[in-house]
Amino acid sequence: MRLTVIGCAGSVAGPDNPASSYLLDAEADGRTWRLLLDLGSGAIGPLQAVLDPATLDGILISHGHPDHCADLASLSVLLRYGPSSGTGLAPIPLWGPDGIDERVRQVEGASDDAGLAPFAWRALAPGETRSLGPFTVTAARAWHPVPALAYRIEGPSESGGAATVVFTGDTDLCDDIVAIAADADVLLAEAGWADRAENPIGIHLTGAQAGELARRARAKRLVVTHVASWVDPTATLAQARAEHPHAVLAAPGVVFDI
Ligand SMILES: [Zn+2]
Ligand SMILES: [Zn+2]
Repeated sequence: MRLTVIGCAGSVAGPDNPASSYLLDAEADGRTWRLLLDLGSGAIGPLQAVLDPATLDGILISHGHPDHCADLASLSVLLRYGPSSGTGLAPIPLWGPDGIDERVRQVEGASDDAGLAPFAWRALAPGETRSLGPFTVTAARAWHPVPALAYRIEGPSESGGAATVVFTGDTDLCDDIVAIAADADVLLAEAGWADRAENPIGIHLTGAQAGELARRARAKRLVVTHVASWVDPTATLAQARAEHPHAVLAAPGVVFDI
């Protein structure tokens, strides 16, 4: 599998970095399979530099905050009116926690379901496992103020055999997240908080907590993401590395072979 960072800015898009969006692709059955993780504010632009969005095989959304799903409405417009319109494109599977369909309707601003037409929407429950091409996706409940899921995705390794990517979405540190991240080859973990004593509970990880999560879950590699654009990412990375030595920062355009 290959993990490409489309955007990784935390909470809002930054001046040179869209909000949360990652592309996971894998070769299987003689073709490339493409699974998108989140499509946050600003991500629809650079996503088109990486692939034709009409070729996506599936979309996983972690939760309904704008920095994770706002550009679904833009993708819908692109698919309905762009070059792929009228080509008989099958609806793209769109999976996420309860309410993502309503978020698309809200951003679309229409009273009908036209915005959802390009998607085959399905709510996932925590603990549910589903297959999509070579990917096996398992959802876990995240600790966040709105319904939110973390995802464990198993698929073909670049070096043969199978590999596992775990994406935390947005979450505070909790046992469900440690469990879903167990022995991950790559743990894509948010660090939405700067390391301050007064951070409220139940929203985000700090860099140190992302590192603690990786250590407790015995993850092989930690990719620290969702650092707010007003926070020094090198400080967040240093805090994560104090807990887990194999930590790196996500950045737009970076590709990880898994
Ligand atoms: Zn977020
Ligand atoms: Zn959030």
